[in-house]
Amino acid sequence: MPAALLVLFYLGLTCAPLVMAAVQGHAPRPLRDELASGVALAGLAIILVEFVLSGRFRVISGRIGMDVTMRLHQLLARAATVMILLHPYLYAGPQSLRAGLTPPGSAPLNFDWLGLWPGIVAWLLLGALMVMALGRNGVFRHEHWRAMHGIMALIVAGFGVLHATRAGRYSADPALAMLWWGLFAVAAFSLLWVYVIKPAMKARRPWRVSAVSRLADRTWELCLSPVGHKGLRYRPGHFAWISVGKLAVSLDENPFSIASAPADGPDLRFVIKELGDFTSRLGEIKPGTPSYVDAPFGSLTLDRHRDAAGVALIAGGVGIAPMLSHLRQLDADADPRPRLLLYANRTVDQIVCGAELDARAKGGPLQVTHVLSEPPEGWTGETGFVTAEVIQRHFAQDALRTWVFVLCGPPPMLHAVEKALMSLGVAPKNILLEQFSYD
Ligand SMILES: Cc1cc2nc3c(=O)[nH]c(=O)nc-3n(C[C@H](O)[C@H](O)[C@H](O)COP(=O)(O)OP(=O)(O)OC[C@H]3O[C@@H](n4cnc5c(N)ncnc54)[C@H](O)[C@@H]3O)c2cc1C
Repeated sequence: MPAALLVLFYLGLTCAPLVMAAVQGHAPRPLRDELASGVALAGLAIILVEFVLSGRFRVISGRIGMDVTMRLHQLLARAATVMILLHPYLYAGPQSLRAGLTPPGSAPLNFDWLGLWPGIVAWLLLGALMVMALGRNGVFRHEHWRAMHGIMALIVAGFGVLHATRAGRYSADPALAMLWWGLFAVAAFSLLWVYVIKPAMKARRPWRVSAVSRLADRTWELCLSPVGHKGLRYRPGHFAWISVGKLAVSLDENPFSIASAPADGPDLRFVIKELGDFTSRLGEIKPGTPSYVDAPFGSLTLDRHRDAAGVALIAGGVGIAPMLSHLRQLDADADPRPRLLLYANRTVDQIVCGAELDARAKGGPLQVTHVLSEPPEGWTGETGFVTAEVIQRHFAQDALRTWVFVLCGPPPMLHAVEKALMSLGVAPKNILLEQFSYD
């Protein structure tokens, strides 16, 4: 399904309750009441559709990109939260119940406790959910937060639908009530799919750790081999959710870009930087440890750029992982297109697979340029950050127009490089980008 159709489908789903309410033919109420109901209907619809914007559905994230999916998830969640939290205050209030203020034929607001309490529970929990999402870092383990986030969101959605169908003027309509419960069922199923059904399916395709080796300062290579199956079908630029030394159904899974290339064989290699509880214990993982893989995900692949005249890879730190996969596969395919890797690090000891990159650059179509922000004495490469000036020094005007630019690294670097590329005339459709954090 093309991205434009997905957007239309999304708009259709979130606007459907409003349209269904509008055609019910109720007598008009004061504008504030209509506004309050409209805001509540749209907010609840957005919340229910948020579950499939969690990034774990390839049909969505594979088309519009993982970063865009997660950004949309966050922005829409914030918009829906504001709408839902505000809607009780938008109603004209009890005075609209008073005779004379209520237009003839208009049903009054329903202040029945039966309809009100689920709304109050959903309203309070939604506020808590947003506070937890915004302030999660450093307070919860990421895996615990992710599970709590999903479960709390489902409770909010359930009580929200209960409130709408019991207290809402428009949602009392059987067709709209059915749509609400239908959307709630999809939301619940999507959580079940991500946390139970899919992991249980993964159990039938186990992997094991075949090697763990130190590549550079606080950076490791983890190699997984398939056990009793042929491995994964993926393309360079994809990433995988992996769990190591845990049960197949486990909250402990982390996303990592695949650094190996399909041409290398069935083993998967990952380049991983130490950061938190899992990544800091990589050195302790023993070969043979059972593992599970949920993949492929992501949109950093070159599928839609087969006609690009060249391939520019701009990596910051561990953002080199998907670039290694691209370079390995391009070489295996004997792809003749010119390619240039701009590889930014702080210090020289952070460079990963330096010897391999040098070997690949020898006599082939690849050129590698290192950019160090803290260069050693006598360094002759680029220094500082990847700026428009650095890019201009390495890419001819023609390349800026006709090449595809693949970016991966820390979010601040990515945004600066994307801006620089666009200021130099690179078309946004020729920029592929993946960041390793959605904070
Ligand atoms: C699409 C994608 C590809 C990635 N590829 C690589 C890679 O190739 N190499 C690499 O070193 N790192 C990569 N990362 C980052 C990597 O996932 C985190 O560094 C890792 O999960 C941290 O786990 P931890 O248990 O050590 O740290 P924790 O202490 O659990 O978390 C530290 C921070 O890491 C992030 N994080 C942790 N778990 C997750 C999760 N399940 N989903 C999203 N973010 C999480 C959060 O920002 C969290 O605050 C990638 C991230 C994403 C989203």
